[in-house]
Amino acid sequence: MPVSESDLVNPSVGIYFFLYFLIFILLRQEETSTSSASKIFSFPMNHADFRHWAHELADWMADYFEQVGQYPVKPPVLPGDIKNQLPTGPPASGEAFEQQYADFQQIILPGMTHWQHPQFFGYFPASRSMPSVLGEMLTAAMGAQCMIWYTSPAAEELEERMMEWLRDMLALPGGWTGVIQETASAATLVALLMARERASSFGVNQTGFYGRQPMRVYASEQVHSSIPKAVKIAGLGEAHLVYIPTDASFAMDPGQLEAAILKDLEVGFQPVCVVAAIGTTSSTAIDPIKPIGEICRNYGIFLHVDAAYAGTALLLPEMRWMSEGLELADSFVFNPHKWMFTNFDCTAFFVRDKQLLTNTFSILPEYLKTPLDKQVNNYRDWGIQLGRRFRALKLWFVIRTYGVAGLRARIREHIRIGQWLAETIRQQPDFELLAPVPLNLVCFRYRPEGMADEGQLNSINERLLQTLNDSGKILLTQTKLNGKYTIRLVAGQVDTTQETVNQGWELIRDTARAMAI
Ligand SMILES: *Cc1c(COP(=O)(O)O)cnc(C)c1O
Repeated sequence: MPVSESDLVNPSVGIYFFLYFLIFILLRQEETSTSSASKIFSFPMNHADFRHWAHELADWMADYFEQVGQYPVKPPVLPGDIKNQLPTGPPASGEAFEQQYADFQQIILPGMTHWQHPQFFGYFPASRSMPSVLGEMLTAAMGAQCMIWYTSPAAEELEERMMEWLRDMLALPGGWTGVIQETASAATLVALLMARERASSFGVNQTGFYGRQPMRVYASEQVHSSIPKAVKIAGLGEAHLVYIPTDASFAMDPGQLEAAILKDLEVGFQPVCVVAAIGTTSSTAIDPIKPIGEICRNYGIFLHVDAAYAGTALLLPEMRWMSEGLELADSFVFNPHKWMFTNFDCTAFFVRDKQLLTNTFSILPEYLKTPLDKQVNNYRDWGIQLGRRFRALKLWFVIRTYGVAGLRARIREHIRIGQWLAETIRQQPDFELLAPVPLNLVCFRYRPEGMADEGQLNSINERLLQTLNDSGKILLTQTKLNGKYTIRLVAGQVDTTQETVNQGWELIRDTARAMAI
């Protein structure tokens, strides 16, 4: 119906206008009065703001990927420097995101250690890649809880499929089942609990340790700190973790393992678990899985294999000598969040006996029951936590973006670079290797000609490492091997190249030779 002139001057329209105006004024007053409840409920970021900032931050992230090498690897900050710049209490009312973003750039960024810096060679890498970050963004946006199939069917089924892919990519035993855990430490604790429950026929779960003989766990002297920690948490008692001596290559000596087991049996202890490492943290020593596995089988002991870092190298057929005998193991863990370009956290945990795993952990309170429980995997029962993040998505993106061939090419190149650096160091008269280099971690020290005193060598290498790290140009970490202060250099980030490692090596060499002794 066309609007006529008379409609517009209709007196009732005027009344509506008046009422509308009144409401408008009232609302405005409400908004400007500071103590009102509406202030508390006002929404400081709307959809348009979110879109704007998401674009802005995406640009920042892309720049960071390109320019991370321009930051000091380790920030020149002292304890308290960052905290002192933060208000002692939270803001009473919402602040503009613009200000928060500016504070991120001015306070937080200068206090970060840049793990993705091309000259970061410390610890083991916490590698990430562009597809993995994109996956993480979607995971965060969906904000789903992936505790059971019912709460996120696609997350559960993608995780299942990704674990099958990984199992086959690494040539792990075909019947094994995998699940994503938050860290290798958590996966190792899960393995120890499985071992404990298998050895006690689920008795410790039911009635605790009362009246039981001590349970014993075995690992090499080079074992990662997460194992004694898990032994403590599992209630086994750290005194019952037996450290097995290693050979010249820092690998567990199976003869010593068997001797320790026999000795324990004699005094009435119950051997329940051996933790063997494919790639120790100090020097990537490779425990011989096959003879260890045979001993475990003979004595009915659970074998957990910790390949947190080096497991990724099993992508390469030529590296599978490391996993010979793995079919004798009961569980296996490796971290795609270390060397497979999937940002923290993403730990792949595999078990031979899925039933043992779920029997160790299953709970079923009424509020978590669903009609489908018998047909699906409910990962709640596969580990410690109930709530779970959707971590399979980023893994899916990484594997599809690089492809198996692309992943292999990078891992192979990293190992080649590791071998190249080892050979380069071997040829220096004033440097020496302190451990075999099976992969891409090189353990070495500076040894100026004529210096033989171990104490002096330790202190000069400690000083060298500190000088290098304080320069902000490179980051390295250390370990002790046979009592010797050892510098570790790991070449395993997504962007690690011959050139970045060569640059790092030249800096180390020149800094060492320029040091006053
Ligand atoms: C890094 C590492 C761990 C611990 O990994 P998280 O995922 O940080 O818990 C355990 N074992 C070995 C051999 C490692 O290198």
